[in-house]
Amino acid sequence: MKKLLKAKIFVVLLFLSFFFFLIICILAIMGYTIGNDSVAQTSVILKKQSYLENNDLYAEKYRSTLNKLLFDYGYVSMERLVWYLQATNNIADPNTLSDDIWEKAYIENIDEDEKQMIPTSDMCEKVDSDFNDENFVDLCNPDYIAEHNLIYTNTYMNLPYIFPLKHDTLSSITSMVNEKRDIDLGLSDEEQESVNFHSGWDLSSSAETNVYSICDGTVTSVNFTQDENITFDEQTEPKNKVGNIIKIQCSSTNDIVTYAHLYPNSASENMVMGNFVSKGEFIAKVGTTGQSTGNHLHLEINSDSGIRLDAFYFIDFTENSIYKD
Ligand SMILES: [Zn+2]
Repeated sequence: MKKLLKAKIFVVLLFLSFFFFLIICILAIMGYTIGNDSVAQTSVILKKQSYLENNDLYAEKYRSTLNKLLFDYGYVSMERLVWYLQATNNIADPNTLSDDIWEKAYIENIDEDEKQMIPTSDMCEKVDSDFNDENFVDLCNPDYIAEHNLIYTNTYMNLPYIFPLKHDTLSSITSMVNEKRDIDLGLSDEEQESVNFHSGWDLSSSAETNVYSICDGTVTSVNFTQDENITFDEQTEPKNKVGNIIKIQCSSTNDIVTYAHLYPNSASENMVMGNFVSKGEFIAKVGTTGQSTGNHLHLEINSDSGIRLDAFYFIDFTENSIYKD
């Protein structure tokens, strides 16, 4: 009888300890999943904001390659180029590679007729398929492609826009969209965070260079508040943050294009809210008004739902015949 009781107690204890073990396992798995989720979340946010973590590391090299090859070969995003350099050379830091290798990678990523990137899926087939490192942007990962579906399509983009400056204009790219910037503008931490990743492309050019509408559209905002073409540093209090700005909503896409830092009193007569603008129409001139350190055009595109887009993905660099003064 005593033996039977002992056996029963033993079975109950065994069952209880198994039960506790099970609970502990479940808790451990839950904790691991939640932890992993937050890591994944952070990485998604970082990618969205900067395309490439620590992109300032590559920015200078990329800009010089872009300035040299943009009109000859078209556009390859920095993220794409760095990924290709890393994958094909199996290195963490493409800065260690020569300019020639950067240029070669750029050209290899371009369809010369389309002046656009070769579809990502085709490039993925070209590079080593088992190349994978959590520090690198994994453009071949289906999840990543799905997340960036708008940009990394498997087919060629239709290219609705033209470049906002005539191609023979002397200009150079001084800052790219989503470039990480730690410029101290004397702002609060919160404001500083919002400007930490550049919202558009900066095209430096001389003062009063003509700027043209990149699309057919409607003027949604004209704000010329600054009468003198002086940089932010030279302004007296209160300093003008915004500078002279025109916004145009494109008819074919509903995207909103912002042209900023424009030259004082340079807006064409047609720049009136609600007016129709045609692609290639002269709209205003390059200046350095607002938060600016030199004459340049800040070109920015946002979708109508407010998503920041990379303007260069949508520009047809072959189109150079429809500028109208
Ligand atoms: Zn800018």
